[in-house]
Amino acid sequence: MEVVGICGSDVHYLVDGRIGPFVVEKPMVIGHEASGTVLELGRNVKHLKEGDHVAIEPGSGCRRCKYCKTGRYNLCPDMRFCATPPIDGNLARYYVHDADFCFKLPSHVSVEEGALLEPLSCGVRACKRGGVTIGSTVLILGAGPIGLTSLLAAKAFGASRIVIADFNESRLELAERFGANCTIQVCPDDEENDVIEHVYEAFDNKQPSVSIECSGAEMGIRIAILVTKTGGKAVLLGMGKTEINLPLGSALFREVDIKGVFRYVNDYPTSLDMVATGKVDVLPLITHQFPLEETLEAFETARTGAGNAIKVLIRPNTDSSSNC
Ligand SMILES: [Zn+2]
Repeated sequence: MEVVGICGSDVHYLVDGRIGPFVVEKPMVIGHEASGTVLELGRNVKHLKEGDHVAIEPGSGCRRCKYCKTGRYNLCPDMRFCATPPIDGNLARYYVHDADFCFKLPSHVSVEEGALLEPLSCGVRACKRGGVTIGSTVLILGAGPIGLTSLLAAKAFGASRIVIADFNESRLELAERFGANCTIQVCPDDEENDVIEHVYEAFDNKQPSVSIECSGAEMGIRIAILVTKTGGKAVLLGMGKTEINLPLGSALFREVDIKGVFRYVNDYPTSLDMVATGKVDVLPLITHQFPLEETLEAFETARTGAGNAIKVLIRPNTDSSSNC
């Protein structure tokens, strides 16, 4: 492997030992945001050659069930997904993966960009689920890596106004660089109604057509439902508690569709195209890089957010003595 990014879910597994129904019961190799160099190929693989750089979509379905056959393989009950118990991830020097989920990177796309296709695909999936298109107005709650890639995707999909909210000032500064029309810095003691008021102000007293919730916090999800315009879509991407209090009446009476996002499905090619054509630049997300030998430090940086960490990368094949 060339580059493996640390994702919030990796940190969840490390700290909590579980995410929702997925429980770590025995030691598991972590890592699922990866790019690599092809060393060897299966004899029937025709679309790759040795030495190619590839982005690795980390899950592969059974290819036989109704979900796989109808293009929703992310819902396959027999999905094998990197670093989702009990399947090992790819934070390793050498790793074997199904070739049809390896996407060749053009020579002008770096392996770092290849690894970042994973979080970008989450943002692409959220925008597709929310029907973001030219003229959409989009609220994004949470400016972590997934909020920021949702912003990049919404911009590329043609949204006319994008507002993003977070506690963290440095993340909001990056959101501005990424093209957010307005940022909202939420304070820890802000009440729900305070934030809602800021949102309305940011949209010139209108309601966004799509809200993408990336924080996973109860207040964030409640706000996503409450502020989305009548007939709009609230897309849930952030992972938090599985049972919370929600204003479902607001969604019911106003036909606000609540849409869950689980990973991505056929979104890697879209993400690669967006990067390869220069429509989005994911590289500013990278704040830290570590060699494999410093994985513990890398995880500590990702867990604590030290040094304004956004995306922390590990380079499995970089010698620890080199300066990265
Ligand atoms: Zn399947």
